[in-house]
Amino acid sequence: MSATPFWLAGRPATGDDEITVTHPYDGRLVGTAAVPTEAQAEEAVAKAHAVRKEAAALPLHVRAEALAHVSRRLAERQEEIARLITGENGKPLFWARGEVGRAISVFRFAAEEARRWSGAAQRLDTDPGGVGRLAYTARVPHGPVLAITPFNFPLNLTAHKVAPAIAVGAPVVVKPAPATPLSALVLGELLAETGLPEGMFSVLPVPNERAAALVQDERLPIVSFTGSGPVGWSIQQAAPRKHVVLELGGNAAAVVCEDADLDWAARRTALFSNYQAGQSCIAVQRVYAVGDAYDRLLPKIVDAVGNLVVGDPWDDKTQVGPLISEDAAKRVEAWVESSGGTVETGGARDGATYAPTVLTGVRADAEVSCEEVFGPVMIVERAASVDDAFAKVNSSRYGLQAGVFTRSLDIAFKAQRELEVGGVIIGDVPSYRADQMPYGGVKDSGVGREGVASTMADYTYEKVMVLTGL
Ligand code: NAD
Repeated sequence: MSATPFWLAGRPATGDDEITVTHPYDGRLVGTAAVPTEAQAEEAVAKAHAVRKEAAALPLHVRAEALAHVSRRLAERQEEIARLITGENGKPLFWARGEVGRAISVFRFAAEEARRWSGAAQRLDTDPGGVGRLAYTARVPHGPVLAITPFNFPLNLTAHKVAPAIAVGAPVVVKPAPATPLSALVLGELLAETGLPEGMFSVLPVPNERAAALVQDERLPIVSFTGSGPVGWSIQQAAPRKHVVLELGGNAAAVVCEDADLDWAARRTALFSNYQAGQSCIAVQRVYAVGDAYDRLLPKIVDAVGNLVVGDPWDDKTQVGPLISEDAAKRVEAWVESSGGTVETGGARDGATYAPTVLTGVRADAEVSCEEVFGPVMIVERAASVDDAFAKVNSSRYGLQAGVFTRSLDIAFKAQRELEVGGVIIGDVPSYRADQMPYGGVKDSGVGREGVASTMADYTYEKVMVLTGL
């Protein structure tokens, strides 16, 4: 099997090393990815830097057409790319198809936003000193973007960083996760079909130690990172003068109020605690049920979790597949065993697969409660009141999104006011994300917002020009 080439300034290339990609479910070889040499990575960065002015001046219709092309090509190749994602990541085909579907939309949204990308004119004669003057404010890119992505959504999280970069006219250098480089490399292939200028994009599957050099490179003034907290915060420290966006982890909570539809709440929390084997930064990890909703909800959740279809990710019916590795599943197993809680269902491991698990009565300081499990585990607790439930949500050091199952508008607005998170989802799980809306965290979950339009604003700064003598 020859190595999949990486993308050096828009051209396919091979280096002097390879990454081996294996299937998490059975360990078989899925493919290999070529790794750039230091000189090749340097060439990619130099070319991104060199093309930055040409990139910023690219006509909007050229950017929009390139983005729309990638969207169309993803749609044409949806099944094949979904199979690639299942192969390298192990997520069931159902979720992999959904991920490609989202990436199709992300590129389409970016194409639409690129056509709307415009400056703002402002009359300055609202003040005597401004008579005869007009301000025109444009948004200009900070410069080339370094996009560092995790393994759990290897295509769509790359799309979230690449599509807005092209829309604002910024070159982008992608560093994909070592376990899942292949889907980012396919994206490189589709971008190469667009005829964008040389240097506009590179995809460099370099090892982590060499990614640190990219983080510090002054020619990449924006670092957009999605991944774990320790790595993310160390990147911010290593590059204090750069514009750093951090999309980090969480231990997302759902509050279930007494007025909620409990069947719906049970079905949704059960599915979204376990989708992608819980390896999502907004997977449901903590459920706080208010008052006697707890007694009615718990058996419904246990039933729904127990009925999830677990196993072979290639089977169309499978809802929960393996974690990214056996080591990851062993960590989850150890955390469950040391939690001091009662296993209501699940609690068993088979290789890299961990059974969807519901825990009650866990210690408040157990990892499954305080840390990010990143596995198919949910803790369910009774809250004395809505205030108590919100206090429990806020006791976390993380703050990405929260879900609140209620029919009350008062509680909805209270949730938006009081919950310390970047997004509140009323009537559904915290795991809901629409790719066109602002998305991101507070506290240890990061800084900055993604979502196509938000990222476009984030990659750019306002530059004003004043016309005098009008
Ligand atoms: P990770 O932090 O191990 O790796 C993320 C990326 O950083 C990878 O590409 C990795 O190779 C790279 N990296 C590692 N060390 C580096 C270094 N020293 N310098 C530069 N790059 C380095 O994360 P992961 O295990 O791939 O992903 C899981 C994490 O991602 C979880 O914590 C999850 O919550 C988080 N995540 C967050 C979001 C979000 O939007 N907030 C979305 C998905 C995943």
